[in-house]
Amino acid sequence: MRTPGKSMDFDYFISDLLPKIKNTPVINFMGGEPTLHPQFNEIFSRTFEAMPSFTSLGLFTNGLMGDKALDLLVSTAGRNGALKRKISFAVLLNWQTLDNISEKNHERCGEVAEIFMRANGYSITFSINLYSKDQDIESQCEQIDAIYQKVGLPKDQEYRIRVSPAFPIVGGESNIYLPIRDYPKLGRKMSQLLKRFPQMAFRFDCSFPPCFLDEIEEDETDLVQRFYFHGFKQVPELTEWKTQDLYFGCADGSPMDIDSKGDCFNCFPFHEMQLGNVSEFKEVNSIASARMGARFLTSVFEKTEVKEPCKSCPHYMVRCSSGCFAYNFI
Ligand code: SF4
Ligand code: SF4
Repeated sequence: MRTPGKSMDFDYFISDLLPKIKNTPVINFMGGEPTLHPQFNEIFSRTFEAMPSFTSLGLFTNGLMGDKALDLLVSTAGRNGALKRKISFAVLLNWQTLDNISEKNHERCGEVAEIFMRANGYSITFSINLYSKDQDIESQCEQIDAIYQKVGLPKDQEYRIRVSPAFPIVGGESNIYLPIRDYPKLGRKMSQLLKRFPQMAFRFDCSFPPCFLDEIEEDETDLVQRFYFHGFKQVPELTEWKTQDLYFGCADGSPMDIDSKGDCFNCFPFHEMQLGNVSEFKEVNSIASARMGARFLTSVFEKTEVKEPCKSCPHYMVRCSSGCFAYNFI
């Protein structure tokens, strides 16, 4: 549930929204910062209690929650929480740099990460926003690796850092986004980091623009398999790309965003393109998602006019549909 600038009303959540979403296979709490909602604990607990087994619950956070929210989340991550109920629970911790967060907050964020890892190492994923080819991704990765080493990740285990290119926001105010031309430079930095940290891998959730790997050198091709796309799919060896039907582009079918009024959007860059409202649907299920997904693709894929560098790119319409569609609308 995304609540841009506004808090969801508690009564609306309990009586209108929760009954419609409770059987949805994936529920993610997003923000702003969801733990800042004054009734966060109640909303989170009621959601968790209402969910059936074999579904997924996620929380996107900056890690600066108060102790009350932290206690609840750690007990949900622990043995007697989600594991017992067979619900997969994931905390996505947005790892900030020292540039944009105070040292004290950064320390707290690290502490919170360690607490989650000790409760259940699988419950936490670090997330890094890619906003500039010059950003200090090296320090961000160093700090994350140091936490994994401190809590004693076994040497034969891999961990995946979620990376999310900062996409343009369509309509509204302009934002800082990562230009597509800079993807190969940042991809180069990331592959060097994979060499330095042998347990590290990178995971892209919605689209994985293959030009991130354009500057991989011949003796580095094994690193390609330490990139994941659409959340969990391993990028195949480069030699297989020519003979496989691969699609790295915008993963339609991803969970819909729902805002504080129940309005539905495909994703943050298109938050001004309302696709429906939960009141239209008996349940927010696969049928509702397919309908909203079809509306989204009709607008963004059919009507898209591709620009450079995608227009001349050898990956375009072979395995990539121009990265994130938002770039075609700015
Ligand atoms: S089509 Fe665009 S985003 Fe996709 S790989 Fe090529 S340049 Fe990158
Ligand atoms: S348009 Fe596609 S790639 Fe871009 S943010 Fe939305 S889901 Fe992700």
